[in-house]
Amino acid sequence: MIRHTEERLAGTRACARAHTHTNTPRPAFAGALLADANGNVLLEHTNAVEATRDATEHAELGLVRRASSHLPPETVARSYMYCSGEPCGMCACAIFWVGIPRLTYGSPGSYLGELAAQPGFKDREHPLAAGAPPVAAESVLVGANALGIERVVEGGVLLQEAKAVHAGYWLPPDAGAPQHG
Ligand SMILES: [Zn+2]
Repeated sequence: MIRHTEERLAGTRACARAHTHTNTPRPAFAGALLADANGNVLLEHTNAVEATRDATEHAELGLVRRASSHLPPETVARSYMYCSGEPCGMCACAIFWVGIPRLTYGSPGSYLGELAAQPGFKDREHPLAAGAPPVAAESVLVGANALGIERVVEGGVLLQEAKAVHAGYWLPPDAGAPQHG
């Protein structure tokens, strides 16, 4: 793991918070960032589902699409991706297709499922609130290793900080956020 991990993960949370006063009515809860091996930030992107009313406007997918269309393939092939939370199955597949080899994230997808089970969860129509299981990013990306394409995935980094961003978005301010999981 490169030495800039904590700084870059903090950057994904800052990226999410930055949208609070721009074009979203509520703070975004997910940010994604792409860096080179020296920790230099190449791209960053924020969840824009509310702003665009497009349910696929996840921070990770937006970042991956920009990386694929704007960066040289050899740069992408040596890049490091950081996400405030675990990418969903859709985004993990996109990461696979563009060939980003290293992924580090904060809170696991299962934590979003825990929040969705809370009485105050703000979006009862969210797929997770209906019980849809998240697809683990690691199962998608590390599965590629069987094809001889090495992917390195590390989750749960700066876990409590990452969870706080999610809980602050999905639950009312006075709700006690679940801390396990
Ligand atoms: Zn996603």
